[in-house]
Amino acid sequence: MRTKEQFHDNLAQMRPNVYIGGEKVGRDDPRLLPGIRVYDMVLDLAGDPEWKGVATVKSPLVDKEINRFCHLPQTPQDLIQKQKLIRLGARRAGGCVQRCMGLDGITALAVCTKEIDMAKGTDYHERFLKFMRYYQENELAGCCAQTDSKGDRMKRPFQQNDPNQYVHIVERRNDGIMVSGYKMSITTAPYAEEMIVIPTRALGKEDADYAVAFAIPPDTEGISLVTRPVWHRDFKDGTTSPFCKLGVSDSLVIFDNVFIPNDRVFMCGEWDFGRRIALLFANSHRHSYCGCKPAISDILCGATILAAEANNIMKASHIKEKLTEFAGASALAYAAGIAATLFGKKTDSGVFFPNPVYSNVGRRLSGELVYHEYNILTEVAGGIAVTMPFHEDFKKGDNVDHLNKFILRNPQVPADESLKIWKFVEELGTSAMSAWYKVAGVHGGGSPIMETISLGLDYDFEDKKNVARYLAGIDETLDDSRMRQEEPVAALSPDAQKEVMVGQPN
Ligand SMILES: Cc1cc2nc3c(=O)[nH]c(=O)nc-3n(C[C@H](O)[C@H](O)[C@H](O)COP(=O)(O)OP(=O)(O)OC[C@H]3O[C@@H](n4cnc5c(N)ncnc54)[C@H](O)[C@@H]3O)c2cc1C
Repeated sequence: MRTKEQFHDNLAQMRPNVYIGGEKVGRDDPRLLPGIRVYDMVLDLAGDPEWKGVATVKSPLVDKEINRFCHLPQTPQDLIQKQKLIRLGARRAGGCVQRCMGLDGITALAVCTKEIDMAKGTDYHERFLKFMRYYQENELAGCCAQTDSKGDRMKRPFQQNDPNQYVHIVERRNDGIMVSGYKMSITTAPYAEEMIVIPTRALGKEDADYAVAFAIPPDTEGISLVTRPVWHRDFKDGTTSPFCKLGVSDSLVIFDNVFIPNDRVFMCGEWDFGRRIALLFANSHRHSYCGCKPAISDILCGATILAAEANNIMKASHIKEKLTEFAGASALAYAAGIAATLFGKKTDSGVFFPNPVYSNVGRRLSGELVYHEYNILTEVAGGIAVTMPFHEDFKKGDNVDHLNKFILRNPQVPADESLKIWKFVEELGTSAMSAWYKVAGVHGGGSPIMETISLGLDYDFEDKKNVARYLAGIDETLDDSRMRQEEPVAALSPDAQKEVMVGQPN
């Protein structure tokens, strides 16, 4: 399996094009390191024999074992393992595992390039598979740039005053295309080795130049990444915790006349597939969220238990009740992901794709709960999460003795452990990273309204009306054909069934 050393060697060779705070920085900038460590953790997982078959998979495309984040899901079991891997990785990352955007990007391209070819006689799928072989052979790490800066939200791409508000084709050449424009909020771009670029919305005929999809290394000439890293405030005494070592980054990606060779172009003007590819990415990503959101609930639930123990209030009746709310949020999102798999389907590309309705409800309902879950932590922890003296004050200066007495609440929890608990609660609940997770819970993978739109498209409302018409006595019979069609994928192998059972670390 690919190691983190190989990954770091590759990063070191990339063209410097990352900007933080107005300065051009290298990919070894310490502010990027907390995010890079999450990528490292994923590579370590793939190299760990204990997680073979979960973090790794045998790819039929290159006929070898590869990192699962580079693999196109082929079977229901693949989707179950993907969801489990994301939960597993996110628990270790203290939140975002950062590799699912790339995975959801290649998944969307695999399905859509095949469909475009079938409709238009193009050869995008073959080009894409050639790219995928290279991607999988080298087990590269990808990010996905879907979200355009979008300018005036009420205007379509072709109506914008500045065409760069959406990435678009500026020139078509024999050997490729030139593209320009802005993509924003792109997670992990500085330490990704490939960037999957796809449209963000449904497009009209006049938007044909905006119907463009491709894969390109993020250090390609003409690309600049203006990056906003987020990380935890680490301990100042040289000690640290796994949580405090990790972070993330998001970038505004500027494409300024970037050349994309033909073999990397996977959509070029097919505006009528804009909505399809945008939804394919979003729906796959919402299925991924059914793995990561349970992990975030796991972390918040665990932190709330620690805070309750430190406060010695575990026996209070309202604490148990509040803890069960985490169980509800986490188990429902996870169950929605499993249901999305059971009701998923094989696409013409061979990719097994999750059911969009279950993926969307899992994402929407659990995403919106995120502020509520942080509120539970805040309620149980008390005000110390934002008023505790700095960690350094416990370690040096005139007040060390007082502080180590002050921090004692539960006689069973010693001062040093209590300090670690409150530092963790502070970082988890009130830091810049914490705000990142709250906003990501609402908007990452699409704002709630986008999930509402997806549900409006895919949910069978007519069927529900028919139930009511029958029960009200308007229709004499009830058409239950929908229920007959809704057979889960019974073809789950015994091994896959076992995975469903062990995939739920409740
Ligand atoms: C932490 C984080 C990480 C992210 N990572 C990635 C990533 O890796 N890759 C990526 O591609 N994207 C990423 N995103 C972007 C994410 O997908 C978007 O934030 C999300 O789709 C919402 O888009 P927006 O931020 O432009 O908000 P907007 O779309 O501007 O939404 C703001 C509000 O305006 C409303 N609105 C917008 N347009 C209209 C309209 N035409 N009519 C009526 N109302 C409208 C929305 O409903 C919403 O209420 C990330 C976002 C976050 C927060």
